[in-house]
Amino acid sequence: MNIIEPDYPSVLLIYTGGTIGMIENPETGALEAFNFDQLQENVPELKRFNYRISSYQFTPPIDSSDMEPALWAKLVKIIHYNYDSFDGFVILHGTDTMAYTASALSFMLENLSKPVILTGSQLPIGVLRTDGKENLITSIEIAAAKHPDGTAVVPEVCIFFENQLLRGNRTTKINAEGFNAFRSYNYPPLATAGIHIKYEYDRINKVNPKLPMHPHYVFNTNVIIMTIFPGIQEQTVKTILNTPGLKAVILKTYGSGNAPQKAWFIDLLTDATDRGIVIVNISQCATGMVEMARYETGLHLLDAGVISGYDATVECVLTKLMFLLGHKLSPREIRNEMSRSICGEFTRPAL
Ligand code: ASP
Repeated sequence: MNIIEPDYPSVLLIYTGGTIGMIENPETGALEAFNFDQLQENVPELKRFNYRISSYQFTPPIDSSDMEPALWAKLVKIIHYNYDSFDGFVILHGTDTMAYTASALSFMLENLSKPVILTGSQLPIGVLRTDGKENLITSIEIAAAKHPDGTAVVPEVCIFFENQLLRGNRTTKINAEGFNAFRSYNYPPLATAGIHIKYEYDRINKVNPKLPMHPHYVFNTNVIIMTIFPGIQEQTVKTILNTPGLKAVILKTYGSGNAPQKAWFIDLLTDATDRGIVIVNISQCATGMVEMARYETGLHLLDAGVISGYDATVECVLTKLMFLLGHKLSPREIRNEMSRSICGEFTRPAL
């Protein structure tokens, strides 16, 4: 007799570390990582899922402050290796750098057609009032969700936190205290979890599931974030822009992309772009879009060869630059790619 196995949804849970899997050291009071089996013991609800849930854990688990490109590559390798065996992936990750990892993965997993959901918590999962259980359980449900034709409902890298599913490369950590730790200021949530999980289908990326997922592993980290402020000194800017090996700068400007008009400032930027350094303009404001042509103070930047980061987050622009630089593109090619949305990371300005 042939027994036909039911087609259970399947999710691979990748535990990297972070508060969600931490426990208080009774002597020092500091939070320390514990292992994945202990995490599962604290979420017996996982057994009630009618899903095939497998896990992979980083050994040792890491605080996400120690996250780096080599570990993003490790995550991509795990996903690539298991891609055909699972419907979706949930990554448990510390909140501190979760937005960077989500952004990086969105570029590294080309033609992604399955959900990759990052989540974590503000309180460890063993604590009575933890937000971790809810975040983990709903993330698993989203990672397994499929349309009737078998394609994934959310074929994107996302962050799920405090009832909201956000596009990963649009997300920023905004709260070190409250449960609503993340915000996507310039793109609305892809889903909201209440009694039901309400998906906003028109906001979710449309993908071609027939294209094979193509993993990328290379990064070049010769980039710098330079925040301007009233009183910033010429020598400081000069030193930053002449950092040996520097390939790209994220210039954090005022308002809609404005910066001082002083000749020394514009000359230093022009000199840097002439040397092939890519400079991307991102606003210090969390909401809204860089529009350099709006004020004279922005126009000078355009003349100096600075390009717009539109309404992208710093985490997104930083990881996109490192990703493009890793592919050894010329400054001109990088500038072109920065003006093209690869996977919904910025809003196209109205013409
Ligand atoms: N320091 C922790 C981490 O990012 C904080 C957290 O998980 O919320 O790993």
